[in-house]
Amino acid sequence: MLIGYLDHLFYLVGKSVVLLAALVLILSIIGAVLILYSFRTGHFFAAKLMLISISLLESVIKPIFWLMRADYTIVDDVGVRLRNYVNRTKFLEVPIEKRFIFMPQCVRSTECPAKLTPEGIKCVNCGRCEVGEAKRRAESMGYKFFIVPGSSFIKRIIKKYRPGAIVGVGCQMEIKEGLDLCHSHDIPAQGVPLTKSGCVATTLDWDQLYDVISDQAGAGKN
Ligand code: SF4
Repeated sequence: MLIGYLDHLFYLVGKSVVLLAALVLILSIIGAVLILYSFRTGHFFAAKLMLISISLLESVIKPIFWLMRADYTIVDDVGVRLRNYVNRTKFLEVPIEKRFIFMPQCVRSTECPAKLTPEGIKCVNCGRCEVGEAKRRAESMGYKFFIVPGSSFIKRIIKKYRPGAIVGVGCQMEIKEGLDLCHSHDIPAQGVPLTKSGCVATTLDWDQLYDVISDQAGAGKN
């Protein structure tokens, strides 16, 4: 009697696990198709749902991309663009004077003469890299501009000044972590990925940054 009951229980548990796995697989395939569609067209279908599916099913979606011989970094790329898209309206509601920009120090010229201060690395706009011009433009619009010397810096500045909105530049991983951090502080953020990562002489699409910091609703969607 007991053995028969246990057999039935194991059968039900096994069936539930198979059904759950099939459901996760189907949702992941749908998620992967929507991600590819967004990547190719720049349009987002059911953006918030897609964002949830990327967050929950990323570890299944990426192997699906790998099996399809597609570049699985597309998943991270679309994830960042989706978050920018979802955050954009709130971001634009924050007055520019309350928006902060965090620039990684690796973007600077290797011959940068800027000094480290408690408020980050202080660019003197020497003309050796584009950071000086970006800082000048951003500050003339009203942004606070910081060059980040290390990972704990952003947390310290958020705690100290409580910015209303943030634009962060970094590699995909840094942007993902930064967007999560901002979300946990209820700060609308926009991420701008580096086009060449590394420890020194990294680069970004400066026009994309200027597009994101401009005060137009359509900017920074992609
Ligand atoms: S422009 Fe600023 S960040 Fe770039 S090298 Fe000169 S001082 Fe350093």
